[in-house]
Amino acid sequence: MRYIPIAITLISSFALAEQRHASSHVHGLNHATVVLEGNSLQISYEFPAEQLSEHEHDEHKHDEHKHDEHKHDEHKHDEQGDKNHALSEKLEAIDSVFAMVRLPKNAQCKETKVTHSVTQVASNDKEHTSHYDALIGSTLECSAPNNLTNISFEPAFERFNDLEKIEVEGLLGTRALSETLTATSSSLAL
Ligand SMILES: [Zn+2]
Repeated sequence: MRYIPIAITLISSFALAEQRHASSHVHGLNHATVVLEGNSLQISYEFPAEQLSEHEHDEHKHDEHKHDEHKHDEHKHDEQGDKNHALSEKLEAIDSVFAMVRLPKNAQCKETKVTHSVTQVASNDKEHTSHYDALIGSTLECSAPNNLTNISFEPAFERFNDLEKIEVEGLLGTRALSETLTATSSSLAL
């Protein structure tokens, strides 16, 4: 029955990610979950997709507004599909979680799998219909997990100009941790 704790850990991680999809699309605020179980490390990093195109954001908004004057729902739907596709391409260009985090070298963590997803933020508010969340999910194998004493999110703060805070939730074996990081305090102690 040794597999049961692992299953629970994975479920917890996904449940946390799901909750966030429902509640918190806030520009400048990103979310990360870190789950370490034995040699296996999972990191998911979620952020408003606007961060992928910070400097184009206003331009896009303008375009959408223009298109909205067309009366067809169909047209609007296509446009959202196009936007989703464009964002997915930008997201997939980030091919490793190491674009966001830095791990101690002597923990010897190798990334074995990366997933990307772009989700439209559900909202009744009309102004919010064109907002998306981007999620990068990474699975890593660490040969020396005991050396995993911290995770630095400095690369994320360097990459995204508008990033103010990252809320990190972690599960290390059975130990839970929760911390808010900023550009001046960007490292999570494990
Ligand atoms: Zn947004």
